Amino acid sequence: MPSIRLCVAVALIFCLGAAPGAAQTGKSGVEKLYIINCGEGVAGDISRWSPGVNLGKSMDFVDSCYLIKHGQGWLLWDTGLADAIAGMPEGQRPPDPRMTHWRRPKTLAAELDALGVRPADIKYVAFSHTHPDHIGNVELFPHTMLLVQKAEYEWPAPFGVRFKPDHPATKLEGDHDVFGDGSVMIISTPGHTPGHQSLLVQLPKTGAVLLSGDAVHFKDNWENRRVPEGNTSKEQTLASMQRIADLLAQHKAQLWINHDKAQRDSQKLAPDFYD
Ligand SMILES: [Zn+2]
Repeated sequence: MPSIRLCVAVALIFCLGAAPGAAQTGKSGVEKLYIINCGEGVAGDISRWSPGVNLGKSMDFVDSCYLIKHGQGWLLWDTGLADAIAGMPEGQRPPDPRMTHWRRPKTLAAELDALGVRPADIKYVAFSHTHPDHIGNVELFPHTMLLVQKAEYEWPAPFGVRFKPDHPATKLEGDHDVFGDGSVMIISTPGHTPGHQSLLVQLPKTGAVLLSGDAVHFKDNWENRRVPEGNTSKEQTLASMQRIADLLAQHKAQLWINHDKAQRDSQKLAPDFYD
């Protein structure tokens, strides 16, 4: 069995286009990953995310950003809710009470500062999609290369929050190997939005972790494959969930669900980290 597993592992490394050095040593180029608290809130009615189920039931949500240190530089995955919300004593009330009332205990700028990371140190900012709870602070990094799907870039966002047109951006069309060694892979998972993406990270000790973005919002919806009412495509959402399930099996990866509070309560937050 171990030799079969090794063969599969070697095959995967080549499939993902690993650099020769990485293939020889088998080491991931990722050094560590921080989970940053980018918001906390209460969803008014979670049947928005599970039509016909849990009607009128509210649920605590969280909003996570992930800071990844790779040998070639830092990658920030999602920039969270706008830092301005940290200055609102009662947080940000949603326009529709079924949606999420968000608060920000601390700004992203302060979280990065506490880790000794300056915005200019970050090589790439990639985000799962362009909803405001995921790109709130994108202009904190005006010179950082954005990694965004072309379909998302060109999508007119219904909430009106966008990055500036002159912000450097790589417009992706599908999966993308961020550092060229297979250790950080952007995975195209459309459906929640037209150019939604997830992130597969190979951590040296923790192993493979798949960061969901909003491909799914909480564990119960994942287990029951429920599609939120506001998603842009039900068919794409279901196909993306299947793709994620296949990747989890293939890489023996953990699924870290961005908004799932119960899961995040069991995880280490910055300044603690995963390696
Ligand atoms: Zn979203």
